[in-house]
Amino acid sequence: MTGQKQLDAIIIGAGMGGMCAAARLVAAGRKVIVLEKSPHLGGRCSHRKRDGFTVTTGAIMIPMGENSAIRQAFDAVGAHMDIVETTGRMCYRLAHGDYVLPKTGGGLLSMIEFALEGDANGAAELFQHFRDALGEAAPEEHETFLAWLGRHTKNEAVKNLLQGFCAALMGTNLHEIPAAEFFRFLSYSSHGSRFGLAARGNGSLMEALAEAIVERGAEIRRKTACKRILLEGDRAVGVEISYGMGQSEVLHADHVLSNAGPRRTISLTGNDSLFAGSYRERLEATPYEAPIIHYSFVCDEPLIDGFDGSLVFGNTRNLIYLEIPSIISPGLAPPGKYLHTAYGAPSDAAHSDLKEEAHNTLQELEENFPGVTDKARFLVKARHSGQSPGMHRWPGFMMPVETPVKNLFNVGDGATSPGTIGTEGAASSAKAVVKIIAERSSSPVHCSAKQ
Ligand SMILES: Cc1cc2nc3c(=O)[nH]c(=O)nc-3n(C[C@H](O)[C@H](O)[C@H](O)COP(=O)(O)OP(=O)(O)OC[C@H]3O[C@@H](n4cnc5c(N)ncnc54)[C@H](O)[C@@H]3O)c2cc1C
Repeated sequence: MTGQKQLDAIIIGAGMGGMCAAARLVAAGRKVIVLEKSPHLGGRCSHRKRDGFTVTTGAIMIPMGENSAIRQAFDAVGAHMDIVETTGRMCYRLAHGDYVLPKTGGGLLSMIEFALEGDANGAAELFQHFRDALGEAAPEEHETFLAWLGRHTKNEAVKNLLQGFCAALMGTNLHEIPAAEFFRFLSYSSHGSRFGLAARGNGSLMEALAEAIVERGAEIRRKTACKRILLEGDRAVGVEISYGMGQSEVLHADHVLSNAGPRRTISLTGNDSLFAGSYRERLEATPYEAPIIHYSFVCDEPLIDGFDGSLVFGNTRNLIYLEIPSIISPGLAPPGKYLHTAYGAPSDAAHSDLKEEAHNTLQELEENFPGVTDKARFLVKARHSGQSPGMHRWPGFMMPVETPVKNLFNVGDGATSPGTIGTEGAASSAKAVVKIIAERSSSPVHCSAKQ
């Protein structure tokens, strides 16, 4: 590929952001190469095989609705999303009981009413504040969701419920998420959201996308690391890569898209000073990633009989989420065995002691399901932070996709579009970058479906 036509884009990293960017660019006829340092595609949206079980490297619930930026990227290259839609219901556990979201809708209002133990008037009053905030009375950017909520209720169960919601669905705590971003997330999620679990693991999903991308002329190089982003003045012009037994090579392109996370991207340029000023201030003002704790384990019986939904915990400090993936997507486990996934999060992401909090997550799992730690066989016990966090940035504190270096962009969950997080956020950043590239170049980028 090198030595031929100049590449339109080099993409560093084959995570969800990198792969969706590649899909959108090749669909538009651009010449693209994706570099992935590991043998696997998908980063935190991949899987590994453990004793016959398919366990995720991170994400479990994958957006799949027609409005999803992920779905659109797959569609752009005609890649099949082999995904089992979750039709099971969301369940919230509070100190006074479990609340199962009704299929008939009315979710948030009825959740609040449950937290208020049946006080319909109180629930309607509080719900009206949510409606207002979604409309004309959008909160100020600097106000946290905890502060916003505190202005409207003193009820602890409501706070616990929404703490569970934020930690499990948005990856950070009530006191960390800006209220404005919480409402942007609610608004984004209300537009036809559908979720599913990859039928054969997230890695297979990403391999299907890769196949379609390669079919359209892109190159994907595994076990190939970007060592350095090459600059000419204040412009990115290519990368230096390493692979094999110490081989290295230089590639040039019009655009460089980094899926390595905003911090790592700066260090790859080797030129800190170019990022001084407001970009660096924004990065440092909230230098907080969102860590996450992940347990995957197997039991002979499901912890909750026949449970094909998701359980969110509002009665805990660290345990946030439980799902039984093999009930939803049976291909993920051998017959007769039940694969469970539990997530934990620090109660304060900025000052976390992940080791202690991982321990407490397990304890809280045991408190909620007595005997589980004895009878379960653990396949994964992971603490995600640093280069592989839950998310590179907190919702509401994302870095922009554009960097101070011309033609160098961030894609991934450190630079998601407002109201989006996780895999969807990573895919949304890809959408935003490809749009900018299209607007700047003379030949427009169209995302046409493969014939
Ligand atoms: C435990 C856990 C649970 C989660 N649950 C969910 C969930 O249920 N739903 C959801 O939507 N999201 C979830 N998330 C978040 C989601 O997984 C991530 O937001 C998303 O996958 C991040 O994608 P990304 O584009 O930022 O790329 P990443 O996944 O960060 O991938 C980046 C890729 O770049 C490669 N790379 C990095 N540096 C280089 C280099 N120098 N050269 C070459 N390659 C390089 C890496 O090897 C990697 O493959 C979860 C995350 C975790 C950890």
